[in-house]
Amino acid sequence: MRVGLLGGTFDPIHLGHLRVAEEVREKLDLSEVWFIPAGVPPHKRSEPHLPFEERLRLVRLAVEEHPAFRVLDLEGRRSGPSYTVDTLEELRRRHPDHDYFFILGLDAFVEIETWHEFRRLPELATLVVVNRGDLDLESARNLSKRLFPGREVLFLQVRRLDISSTEIRRLRRSGRSIRYLVPEAVRRRIEERGHYL
Ligand code: ATP
Ligand code: MG
Repeated sequence: MRVGLLGGTFDPIHLGHLRVAEEVREKLDLSEVWFIPAGVPPHKRSEPHLPFEERLRLVRLAVEEHPAFRVLDLEGRRSGPSYTVDTLEELRRRHPDHDYFFILGLDAFVEIETWHEFRRLPELATLVVVNRGDLDLESARNLSKRLFPGREVLFLQVRRLDISSTEIRRLRRSGRSIRYLVPEAVRRRIEERGHYL
């Protein structure tokens, strides 16, 4: 199986994440895309706003209608920071025959040097970098050659959707609507539970 992996804090999941997963699935002919919410994200300056179980639940609501999308809870069950290398190693142990494609936005890729044991990442999965915001995909290619010489890193242009979890949280805090930025079921639960107010 060719499996795409999309890690993130998902605080909360939004249509930007989902559209990236769908476009990469199509372009790379992936059998499935697995969403992997981070337990304790090593890179965020502060703790996530919602606990792992609730972020996980929102991701489940978001992907349940897509036959090729799945959610993995393995990062929430490990203690300590959620390092991507550990996750990829565990997935390779579980399913040694799968081909893994680790998907990340350009904003995340330009900081990859700060990730735990980042040099090992391309041995464990093919990295797939998608554009985000105004960041320049071309300069990222040079960064990739420097950091991972001789390794293939894929750069894919996807539809630009200027949506971030930060912006969703900001809208909620200022009492504004998040409709059509997140799946409807996700919006309903966020509003019912009074999240991010
Ligand atoms: P926050 O604003 O809290 O950082 P976020 O919207 O960046 O949230 P994350 O959970 O941090 O969401 O992102 C997970 C992954 O998805 C990262 O690799 C990120 O680059 C990518 N991503 C998120 N939103 C988009 C988007 N709109 N377009 C392209 N990639 C995205
Ligand atoms: Mg982010």
